[in-house]
Amino acid sequence: MKYFELAKVYEALEATTKKLEKRDILAEFYKKADKDLAIVVRLSYGAVMGEDFGVAKQMLKSIIKKAYGITDAEIMHKFKETGDLGVVAEFFAAHRKQRTLAYHELNVVKVYENLQKLPSLTGTGSVERKVSLVAELLSNASALEARYIVRTVLGDMRIGVAEGIVRDAIAKAFSKEPKDVERAYDFLGDYGEVAEQARKEKGKLKAKIEIGKPVRVMLAERSPGLKEALAAFEHPALELKYDGFRIVIHKKADKIWLYSRRNENITKQFPELVEYAKKHLKARECIVEGETLAVDKKGKPLPFQKLSRRIQRKYHIEKMVKELPIQMNLFDIIYLNGRNVMHEKLKERWNTLKKIVKPIKGKFQLAEHIETKDFKKANKFYQYSLRKGQEGLMVKNLDAFYHPGKRVGYWLKVKPIAEPLDLVIVGAEWGEGKRARWLGSLLLACRSKGKFLATGKMASGLTEKQLAEMTKRLKHLIEEEKGKHVKIKPKIVIEVGYEEIQKSPKYPTGYALRFPRLLRIREKDKGPEDVNTLADIEKLYKQQKRVKH
Ligand code: AMP
Repeated sequence: MKYFELAKVYEALEATTKKLEKRDILAEFYKKADKDLAIVVRLSYGAVMGEDFGVAKQMLKSIIKKAYGITDAEIMHKFKETGDLGVVAEFFAAHRKQRTLAYHELNVVKVYENLQKLPSLTGTGSVERKVSLVAELLSNASALEARYIVRTVLGDMRIGVAEGIVRDAIAKAFSKEPKDVERAYDFLGDYGEVAEQARKEKGKLKAKIEIGKPVRVMLAERSPGLKEALAAFEHPALELKYDGFRIVIHKKADKIWLYSRRNENITKQFPELVEYAKKHLKARECIVEGETLAVDKKGKPLPFQKLSRRIQRKYHIEKMVKELPIQMNLFDIIYLNGRNVMHEKLKERWNTLKKIVKPIKGKFQLAEHIETKDFKKANKFYQYSLRKGQEGLMVKNLDAFYHPGKRVGYWLKVKPIAEPLDLVIVGAEWGEGKRARWLGSLLLACRSKGKFLATGKMASGLTEKQLAEMTKRLKHLIEEEKGKHVKIKPKIVIEVGYEEIQKSPKYPTGYALRFPRLLRIREKDKGPEDVNTLADIEKLYKQQKRVKH
């Protein structure tokens, strides 16, 4: 199918705000998709296997410049006017001076293939490869196509199509029940595949787990505290909340697949886990899941950042296996020997898991798990978890089924809240699109030796009302403007909450805040001279129990 047909559909979707209309547009389109159905469905809501393409806005701007032979100033000018890089690309595609000689009409498969290659490119030369994959698409694209290629790469389609609409459109196109379509999605983790099955199957869509295809995992909610979490369930189970990476293991005889929480296939990155799973899961077929940690040579858990090096690594994996060993802590089972066990209670699932895992201490084991409603015992376990450098506890309802892809409140996470910081705003950025009139992305600074040093950026965490209010205040304090970046006179102090302090070379302090959010504006009670110092941040960083290296 030609990509242009999809681009026209995007345009029609963008033109209406009515959900039912959007559903109908998509349903008609899916019916016509023929052999490209799976790809068309994924592209139709900008989901190329749920990937983050690793192409930042800045890189995309250079690609647009390269594809259409335009200058920095031209692109900046247009961007300021529209606030949408997709529309910028569309404009320059329409006004381009010359087309490449080898011009090809784009089809959906070509676009999909190029996009799909992006996330796997890392390391030396990867930037150039990414640039050329996207530039190839842009130079072959018509103006309308360019708009949506750019938006797909940015992960910001602006067509108002979320998963619910895709689900309903598949149901409508192939005469199925939306709830059955959703169920199939829980088990297949990909609406492209679900649509194929819905088209193929006559009658009711029978959702089945297929080993080797990613299932959606159950999610947790935050609890205000341990007491509340214990009170929530009649029979609670408590487990360490490991600060690692969730991995789902699929096993079929000697074949093993590993998936991340976002359904990326990460089998290649963890060959030792594949070996453990082959030999230490006593089942012909199963799907189990757990949290993986990186550990040091003595088996002591390392902070998450270290493990992320293992996840990203695509080459010389054997070397990494030696340098950064891992520890798998299994906590649930979803499937066993032809049986979907999601509809069994956690109590039963946990017992089944215990039976099939032949543990290797410190490497491949069950998560530390106790069952109690007693606060004293629970608190002891909580403190033990924090001392061990883990995040806190997961409190789970032993009577609950497994709910894929959902935050239903049967798993509650309990973790300490980091102490808030008072910081002063020293910079900001003009927004885009509908936010173009507002200053956002606040640059926050602490004090050090009589100077203000930036130590983080608050990009989200403000409501629209707060953004408008903040802009009003900050406008008078602008000292310098460069493109969308503005320098702000240090005057406004805010109290900032965050998940944790991380080391970061991005800021002059060497530290950054993870997930900062606005708690309140310090009106008159604190001025810039009262903000926290770099020494405070250093102290808090060391205090973070989870950071041990
Ligand atoms: P959060 O990412 O903060 O929403 O917390 C949920 C995540 O905690 C899960 O997706 C797992 O990756 C992780 N986790 C760590 N330990 C456990 C555990 N014992 N049970 C379930 N999830 C866990």
